[in-house]
Amino acid sequence: MARVYNFSAGPAVLPEEVLKEAAAEMLDYQGSGQSVMEMSHRSKVFDKIIKDAEQDLRDLLNIPDNYKVLFLQGGAHLQFAMIPMNLMKNKVADYIVTGQWAKRAFKEAQKFGDAKCIASSEDKTFSYIPDCSDLPIDENADYVYICENNTIYGTKFKTLPNTKGKDLVADVSSCFLSEPMDVSKYAIIYGGAQKNIGPAGVVIVIIREDLITEDVLPGTPTMLQFKTHADNDSLYNTPPCYGIYICGKVFKWLKKQGGLEVMKERNEKKAKILYDFLDQSKLFKGTVEKNSRSLMNVPFVTGDADLDAKFIKEATEAGFVNLKGHRSVGGMRASIYNAMPIEGVEKLVAFMKKFEEENA
Ligand SMILES: *Cc1c(COP(=O)(O)O)cnc(C)c1O
Repeated sequence: MARVYNFSAGPAVLPEEVLKEAAAEMLDYQGSGQSVMEMSHRSKVFDKIIKDAEQDLRDLLNIPDNYKVLFLQGGAHLQFAMIPMNLMKNKVADYIVTGQWAKRAFKEAQKFGDAKCIASSEDKTFSYIPDCSDLPIDENADYVYICENNTIYGTKFKTLPNTKGKDLVADVSSCFLSEPMDVSKYAIIYGGAQKNIGPAGVVIVIIREDLITEDVLPGTPTMLQFKTHADNDSLYNTPPCYGIYICGKVFKWLKKQGGLEVMKERNEKKAKILYDFLDQSKLFKGTVEKNSRSLMNVPFVTGDADLDAKFIKEATEAGFVNLKGHRSVGGMRASIYNAMPIEGVEKLVAFMKKFEEENA
């Protein structure tokens, strides 16, 4: 069996230990005689799986008691709509547009009310995080929205915006559980699982309880109300059971590694190896302003599209896969999520050095 080093932005690499455990339990989950895919979501066995997953996530992030954890479907994209439908009581929301995902969320919110873009980094192809210390926040804003880590462009908020007392909503799909975070600073934290947590099909929402009300925009479907899912502990309808089970295993794996402080250290170390190389390379260069660099997604270019293509081809043949940049930006991107081992990054850098020598 040959496993590759998978630098995909998502769906992305998962811890090998988790995959092996899941494989071993495929036909008979802990003496139940069934796979998790086959069992009732109302069974005792599954109830323990989802409750343990929630508790382990709460432990990892120190989630305060006045926040609910929801396991939903529809990807991050459905949250682009659910958030305004549930939160836009004044029909005003302020968006900070730092990339394609934030822009999509912003556009979606415009369908439901007066969504405003109060800051953007589009002028320089989203290669930095704008200064958000004194933004023109609307006094009627129901919330301020950010995409905390911009998967496509490789930027990350190093300090949260000054929301001037307004609720902060954050899409953390591509930095979820990569480092500790202070949940109490947010109204909603949400992310699709397929970047750093588990399989596609699960989206996790951490939401402050006072935001879960029946007072939603008229016509909001039952399935798109946070209250529906909160009142039923994510079991109003059939949840993405198998995905939740894998997420739960990843949470246990993270705890075993030592938790999010340890992951942060490890992620900083991995990212530094790659950024240090890019900073001295004569061939490759990073595309992001240094103080906005993501620990998870590292875009880089040679400046020559043919050479980029040659690099991607040769890297793939050498077992470093999914390094092609997002179709909207080109070049390369190495996504180095929690489950990417440090050797993966070291070996990639060694390969880049060799490529640089050969193509000088
Ligand atoms: C991948 C990604 C999305 C889109 O996720 P879907 O699950 O495909 O809807 C949204 N936001 C961020 C930050 C992402 O990385």
